[in-house]
Amino acid sequence: MEKKEQLYEGKAKKVYATENPDYVIVSYKDDATAFNGLKKGTIAGKGVINNKMSNLMMQMLEKKGIPTHFVEQIDDRNTVVKKVQIVPLEVIIRNVAAGSFSKKYGVAEGTLLANPTIEFSYKNDELGDPLINTYHALALKLATKEEIETIEKMAFAVNEAMKEFFKQLGIDLIDFKLEFGRFKGQIVLADEISPDTCRFWEAGTWDTTKHTSLDKDRFRRDLGGVEDAYKEIFRRLTGE
Ligand code: UDP
Repeated sequence: MEKKEQLYEGKAKKVYATENPDYVIVSYKDDATAFNGLKKGTIAGKGVINNKMSNLMMQMLEKKGIPTHFVEQIDDRNTVVKKVQIVPLEVIIRNVAAGSFSKKYGVAEGTLLANPTIEFSYKNDELGDPLINTYHALALKLATKEEIETIEKMAFAVNEAMKEFFKQLGIDLIDFKLEFGRFKGQIVLADEISPDTCRFWEAGTWDTTKHTSLDKDRFRRDLGGVEDAYKEIFRRLTGE
């Protein structure tokens, strides 16, 4: 399948049309942003890792019965995915307190939560992706009640599958962000699953100040070793 015209350029990916109106090609860049675009940089090789890793995760989840947008990887940076209409919600699942959750609720990073949590942000860069609840999402017609219920169920199922999967690689899945799309009347998992969108901590490094981040926090917080962290996650996944 070949790239036709560029449809969209986002912070980390470009999207191209294909000859098939149901499919688009996603092209992963090395560009990295944080804090709603305020911090900008590049992470060498990130596009390749995120492309391949996201595809592995989508295929693993498909096997567990979770429908995704994945169709076929073309090469290191390019993948054919279903052309979905993105539901404008960022869906965040948390197992352990970190980041904005720790700040907002005054819980030390690294505190195990009594149960996994879900939260929604309204996907809108101009507004800074504000936190919303399901009543807000319905009131703003961002999704239907049925869609939200499906998204919640799917997001928790993704969490269980991914927690187990990464545990075997010696990695604790702290939290992550998902996006969903509509394709031919069905809700499917879309966007990406990568160290850009997940917090991965080296297992057994729970101590709040001493955990080892193998994710974009190394970029956000200027911790150094950014490229190596992405490479290490990928090595554990593939042996490459
Ligand atoms: N996240 C993301 N995109 C965003 C915001 C958050 O992928 O625009 C991911 C982030 O990598 C982390 C999880 O969602 O794994 C929770 O992020 P949090 O709300 O703590 O925000 P942060 O502290 O990263 O600003």
